[in-house]
Amino acid sequence: MNKTRIFKGIPASLGIGIGTLFHIKLESEFIIKEIIKDEDVQKEIQRFENALSLSIQELLKLKNKVEKNKGKASAIIIETQIFLLKDKDLINSLKKIIKEEKVKTEWAIHLTKIKYEKIFSEFENEYLSGRIIDLNDSLNRILKNLKTSQSQGKKIPTRTPIIIFADDLPPSEMAYYMTHADVAGIILSRGGTNSHTVILAKAFEIPTVINIDFDGTSVFDGVDAIVDGTEGDVYIDPSLTIKKEFFNKKEQFEVYRSELKSVKSLPSITKDGKQFKIMANIEVPEEIELALSYGAEGIGLFRTEFLYMFEKTPPTLDEQTKIYKQVLSKMGDKPVVIRTLDIGGEKKIEAFNIGKEENPALGLRAIRYFLKEKAHFYTQIKAILRAARNGKVKILFPMITEIEEIRELKDIVYSIAKKESVEKDNYDIGIMVETPAAALTIDSYVKEVDFVSIGTNDLIQYTLAVDRGNSSVNYLYKPLNPAVLRLLKFVADEGRKGGIEVQLCGEMASKPIHSIILIGLGINSISMASQTIPIIKRILRSISVNRTRQIMKDAVKLSSADEINEFIVENLLRKCPSSLFKNILPVKI
Ligand code: PEP
Ligand code: MG
Repeated sequence: MNKTRIFKGIPASLGIGIGTLFHIKLESEFIIKEIIKDEDVQKEIQRFENALSLSIQELLKLKNKVEKNKGKASAIIIETQIFLLKDKDLINSLKKIIKEEKVKTEWAIHLTKIKYEKIFSEFENEYLSGRIIDLNDSLNRILKNLKTSQSQGKKIPTRTPIIIFADDLPPSEMAYYMTHADVAGIILSRGGTNSHTVILAKAFEIPTVINIDFDGTSVFDGVDAIVDGTEGDVYIDPSLTIKKEFFNKKEQFEVYRSELKSVKSLPSITKDGKQFKIMANIEVPEEIELALSYGAEGIGLFRTEFLYMFEKTPPTLDEQTKIYKQVLSKMGDKPVVIRTLDIGGEKKIEAFNIGKEENPALGLRAIRYFLKEKAHFYTQIKAILRAARNGKVKILFPMITEIEEIRELKDIVYSIAKKESVEKDNYDIGIMVETPAAALTIDSYVKEVDFVSIGTNDLIQYTLAVDRGNSSVNYLYKPLNPAVLRLLKFVADEGRKGGIEVQLCGEMASKPIHSIILIGLGINSISMASQTIPIIKRILRSISVNRTRQIMKDAVKLSSADEINEFIVENLLRKCPSSLFKNILPVKI
């Protein structure tokens, strides 16, 4: 009798995939330090340059293929890798190691990987820390091209469709399979839900489940399987009954997906006619096409610290101006919020030396560092203002704690704008509300700024005194804690009274039930990872703001997160299921 084996993981890309398992084992290179003679240094540099140019050519070909088959948005990740391999600092630093340490390219790459892995691992933000995969993937391509013979790995079976399962899968490797096979699903043991591989899986709409432990074996190679990217389940060797059930579910999901896509071009208006705005959070300018393809109505948060990450020295004024100009021009007349460098805390950047701190989350972070090291700050502000000369930008300052900070920041911006002949009409100034201090005194800030953006990731951490990256206290990290909700409501109310826009750009905005709560609290401009935009838009279009506001008014008076959750489920979901999730959300809330 057929014995279906079920594995539980984390859903990463929605949908149902049915196919045959195909195991991919990534060759881990064992690299040794090989010393070269003085006279061979030039030859070695030439060898590196050949492999580098071959790698760029391969990526360009891959990019064209992906673009042709799957559209521009899907090729962005390949473009990022091309961009990385053309990075002058990276190339020069590799050459420097070869020259100065007299080692083979393989060892120089090995050292570079270690260096960047350390830098990236210090990012608490899952998206940012996940970007090391792109860099390693690009460097692995060079390593592969340093060898005389190359192969893309094992032969892809002709029996289709396949479900790839691997420990981890670099994005370029994945793009290769996307264009050479009929991939029905992906199962990974490692990686985060914000990794580029997962982003690519979402762009290709491949159901994906991560965190599945197959004990590192390939014993299931060639066996039939089902990937349920909606629930996070994997069925190995499913029975006929289970297969039938999932063929039905797959069909239902396809209907849901095509309906969801049609939402993209619909107006962002709730059932009772209230306008809301859904924007995208981005970390690199290359993400813009993806954001627009998901219907982003603006960039609600550009985390500029990513621009400083690969560099030993901060990007120059011209380099930054070019990037900001590019972002603004791609977004046309849609709003763009550029956040100044949010360094410190868990975000360490080699180009800046903050020094060791006992308690970095409460230390020299973001604007505190910038106001101390004004030269960097001037450069970034000048670049943003120059880019905005022929358009409009919203400048956002992170980690504001007291009113004097924003007054000083404004004075600096105004004096640079004057020198650069940039009119006030070309830029807005806003603060992130991330500290309880800023939230509780928001009535003072609304008189000083054009807009505010609530960063719930940090606001929750600082309000509840719970490290956002510490899994042992994660049980206390509750967005529905009444302390958090009351602060959010207060900020929204005061913002409205003061006549300024209140945006929100923390992770909370991308969770279905939380997005409804936010609208109920009076926040109608939210920003999130691009892929969740149509889901949230569809949900918000189905709710009545008046009713939700009423419910939230009572909800915030309750005394615990659990009570609030229960109250909302009872009043919003059970009492009027027709207005919400039924037939709308085949995903868990
Ligand atoms: C936040 O704190 O909610 C936020 C959006 O900023 P970051 O996650 O980059 O700290
Ligand atoms: Mg923050």
